[in-house]
Amino acid sequence: MATARTPIVAGNWKMHTTVESAITLVEDMLDDLDALEGVEVVLCPPFVSLHALWEMVGDTAVALGAQNTDWRDQGAYTGEISPLMLAPLCRYVIVGHSERRAYFGETDEVVARKAQAALAHGLRPIICVGEDLQQNEAGQTAAVLERQIRAVFTDMTPDEADNCVVAYEPIWAIGSGRPAHGAEAQQAIHDIRMLLRDLVGEKAAEAIRIQYGGSVTGANAAEFFGQPDIDGALVGGASLRPADFVRICAVAQQVRCAV
Ligand code: PEP
Repeated sequence: MATARTPIVAGNWKMHTTVESAITLVEDMLDDLDALEGVEVVLCPPFVSLHALWEMVGDTAVALGAQNTDWRDQGAYTGEISPLMLAPLCRYVIVGHSERRAYFGETDEVVARKAQAALAHGLRPIICVGEDLQQNEAGQTAAVLERQIRAVFTDMTPDEADNCVVAYEPIWAIGSGRPAHGAEAQQAIHDIRMLLRDLVGEKAAEAIRIQYGGSVTGANAAEFFGQPDIDGALVGGASLRPADFVRICAVAQQVRCAV
């Protein structure tokens, strides 16, 4: 069945680039990204570059996202950035990335609060879920994903769910150069969509975009984007290489238009 979901490719730059090199990176790919149709492109630089890049992307088709947010609006939380601060600069915000869960102790409950806070400020959360290698090898992938998805979507309305993106990122595939197989990612993402049907209803579950993330490059992107439930990618390493990132976005456009 042809899908009406517009693919979304987001580049997570992590803790890479200075303001100066972030500007250069965008200069190197903005025209090519802006020329693409039928794919939504999101750049997620470090916080300090958001304002400069917001001025650059202006009214192009390229959107900005933050890599994290607090769930509170303001207060004595040294070093935190709130959704209130991000909302004028970004359309998206990544929440629950496995690096936040692993290195900064973010629990399912914290991720759920962040997603709700983002939505309350008109930001669209990109909610990351995924199992580690041990869980994968123990056959626990479906159970881990179910726990992570239930934590965020159980109390969500269908309208709120419509404004979310889910990124399925098997942790063992992130930055490893060892992506999941397309069919394996499709299965996990299909399972997520079926669970979302129970939680937010069929209409919202069919509309929500679910990305694959983990060692996606221009060379392997078609394997993922050709799968019926995979609606784009969350890209780490390759998003810092302009030609590779543009190629990934172009593949999303070509493959989806051909379905
Ligand atoms: C990520 O960190 O979200 C990611 C998918 O990284 P990479 O593409 O480098 O595996």
